[in-house]
Amino acid sequence: MQKVLIANRGEIALRILRACRELDIRSVAVHSPADRELKHVRLADESVCIGPNRATESYLNIPAIIAAAEVTDSTAIHPGYGFLSENADFAERVEQSGFIFIGPKAETIRTMGDKVSAIRAMREAGVPCVPGSDGPVPDDDPDETLRIAAAIGYPIMIKAAAGGGGRGMRVVRSEAALLNAISLTRSEAENAFGDGTVYMEKYLEAPRHVEFQVLADHHGNAIHLGERDCSMQRRHQKVVEEAPAPGITEEQRRAIGERCAEACRKIGYRGAGTFEFLYENGEFYFIEMNTRIQVEHPVTEMITGVDLVAEQIRVASGAELSVRQEDIEIRGHAVECRVNAEDPTTLMPCPGRIDHYHAPGGPGVRIDSHVYAGYEVPPYYDSMIGKLITHGATRESALARMRTALAEIVIGGIKTNVPLQLDIIADAAFRAGGTDIHYLEKKLGLDH
Ligand code: ADP
Repeated sequence: MQKVLIANRGEIALRILRACRELDIRSVAVHSPADRELKHVRLADESVCIGPNRATESYLNIPAIIAAAEVTDSTAIHPGYGFLSENADFAERVEQSGFIFIGPKAETIRTMGDKVSAIRAMREAGVPCVPGSDGPVPDDDPDETLRIAAAIGYPIMIKAAAGGGGRGMRVVRSEAALLNAISLTRSEAENAFGDGTVYMEKYLEAPRHVEFQVLADHHGNAIHLGERDCSMQRRHQKVVEEAPAPGITEEQRRAIGERCAEACRKIGYRGAGTFEFLYENGEFYFIEMNTRIQVEHPVTEMITGVDLVAEQIRVASGAELSVRQEDIEIRGHAVECRVNAEDPTTLMPCPGRIDHYHAPGGPGVRIDSHVYAGYEVPPYYDSMIGKLITHGATRESALARMRTALAEIVIGGIKTNVPLQLDIIADAAFRAGGTDIHYLEKKLGLDH
């Protein structure tokens, strides 16, 4: 692995650049005109402007990215998260053009991108799933549909097989509403994703979101690195994440983690991945797999000491994982707060120029961010401008460090969600641990 092209922007591009430097691998940044001053662009060995600011014409522009890899003679492409990271066609094009895609095989991405086929593969691999239709809802047999629904039991969630980003889901509480809700979800899914396939799942009333991190190589090795709790969400978007998940026992961790690692071996998975579960009344229910590095990966790095991005790169180069399951030991507790450029009252994105910036520090404090004083938050992309991560010997100590760090951070000139994060960290129920996925919206009065 000689040269990695980073097909992303912002904090994750900087994170990948740092991993490349540590591994003595040259790096290539691609960027839009608005992003030419980004930190990783300045630090990269080479950079290529790939097109206008709109993401569809730059960071989602497959031919431009492949061409940039060709002119710079790159060995591999790291997609980061978001943008093209879970696009099977992109992974295929990368490999067909003679580059290494830092991630799983295109066919694995395709299987996991279709939630019906992902659930089927996981059920076959022995991963516990939400009780459901075990396949698409038939489009011409209402009696059969009603029978399947009755067997699952109400309330039921109708979900688009191609859904993502929290879209294409609808809850149905009675048989009378089912068929109408299915046709509505079908046409929404058709419009949004170009695929009207829907399936049914038991709707869980108050679960937590608990996900397991895995790593696998080309040599049949697959391990898990424990779990993260990402229940603090707004509009299905994660706001605070932590590891380990409060109240999960060592036995549960081992049982579910080993099922995930085993599933990776069965499907020939490679690279980093995440198994997302809903957790309710002591039971885990698989909902989907993410075939990429995730925003919240640092909390796992803090408690295990494993550099997940470096492992991704190593595995893609053909090397074996540098750690074995027995090397994975969970030390202390880590919390991550996503820092967004947004209005704390309306919660709407709030781009603009950061006129002064002070980053907190001290023991157990990590900041993954690309911003600096003078940085202009562009309106074209996601509103996340960084992540604040703290680690401590106990959950209390990690939270005390987070409270101190949030109070210390200065991001002047734009509005951010730091006040909201301070509120969450001080919240009594959150401090007690184990709040469910609806907690934040209820607290903010956003539920109906
Ligand atoms: P997406 O790919 O759009 O993120 P997911 O399948 O991961 O969709 O679900 C997103 C969120 O929707 C979950 O984190 C959870 O909050 C809610 N959800 C999904 N399935 C269920 C279910 N069966 N019962 C209750 N809530 C669910």
